Amino acid sequence: MSTAKKVLFLVFDGLGDRPVPELGNLTPLEAAKTPNFDAIAAKSICGLSNALGRGIRPGSDVSHLAIFGYPMEKYYTGRGPIEVAGLGIALREGDVAFRGNFGTVDEKWNILDRRAGRIRVVDEFAAALDGMEIDGVQVLVKPGTAHRAGVVFRGKGLSANITDADPHAEGLPVLEVKPADDTPEAAFTARVVNQFMRRAYEILEPMEANAKRKAAGEFPANFMLLRGAGIYPTLPKFGDKYGLKACCIAGGGLYKGIGAFLGMDLIAVPGATALPDSDVKAKFVAAKKALGDYDFVFTHVKATDSLAEDGNFQGKKEFIEKCDKAAAELLDLPEDVLLVVTADHSTACELKAHTADPVPILFCSPHVRRDEVASFGERAFSKGGLGRMEGKDVMPEVMNILGRLHLIGA
Ligand code: ZN
Repeated sequence: MSTAKKVLFLVFDGLGDRPVPELGNLTPLEAAKTPNFDAIAAKSICGLSNALGRGIRPGSDVSHLAIFGYPMEKYYTGRGPIEVAGLGIALREGDVAFRGNFGTVDEKWNILDRRAGRIRVVDEFAAALDGMEIDGVQVLVKPGTAHRAGVVFRGKGLSANITDADPHAEGLPVLEVKPADDTPEAAFTARVVNQFMRRAYEILEPMEANAKRKAAGEFPANFMLLRGAGIYPTLPKFGDKYGLKACCIAGGGLYKGIGAFLGMDLIAVPGATALPDSDVKAKFVAAKKALGDYDFVFTHVKATDSLAEDGNFQGKKEFIEKCDKAAAELLDLPEDVLLVVTADHSTACELKAHTADPVPILFCSPHVRRDEVASFGERAFSKGGLGRMEGKDVMPEVMNILGRLHLIGA
């Protein structure tokens, strides 16, 4: 009898939640009708997990890294490197990477709009800044989705230990970037970044495309706000670490970034938007197909989190039901495929925020010790055979089911 060989690893962002009075004190997941995921749970060993441990409220980036076996203390240097990885920039040692926003400032650099009126396409503006050189440092600027961009400073003697320029609010002035330690590298980098912002403003403000935006009553994209500085850490590729050829199917930039950051191939699925309108079924179909070429298929679904961040428990419940319909695609996976379904963290509608509440996790395969749980929900899963786990336990559990753990001792 052979065992599981391949893994479909499905993450619903922010899936866990708290009881909602309007839903009869059920969570959105408990209130949702999920016959397909219930059937999957019935064929699984189930439990609850905290990505970073009890009492820790995780961000999506570090919780994914933890679940994939990359502890943040060792591998997380900032959000920038993950975002730019998702945009296809291959970072080199010594690079400093940032998340960038095209925003709007007045002539005194007070922020009028942090997202340039939610501008949809920034390719032309990114191209105008890309390749700039300051004191021997080259600046790469790549457009992301909507107002976002990835920005990389490449040169000698750079440091990511600098402060952010983004005051995170409208009406406030752009912050001068300062060194966050006493090293000459941090001082040099802060100087270069401040010069970049100055030059970027001088280039962007007079652009024809911005004149057109102003004439149309829109916010011009006349500023580049930088934050999340990080360096590229040397990290083992996921495929090498586990001996599993891996790919990533995600709509959201951060999650593509996590896949790329870990060396997974990115598979684009038309209609995967990371929004509630995302074609979840197309993602599941693509994931199944990818199992032909890959041993590990990471599939990410975002809107469960965003709807909860808006406090929209009804929307979250309905989106989960939509995902459940799509999960009909997952009922007939080959016997050698281990299906893992979990979340990176809970997002509570009542708080409109991530919480430290544990999330459901299931391992579905003929090769696991199935438990009595037959309902996909937080409280049902508390009775599952896995008990309580942490993110760092997830990949060892996967490797155990695949029969690929090294023996300890003799
Ligand atoms: Zn998340």
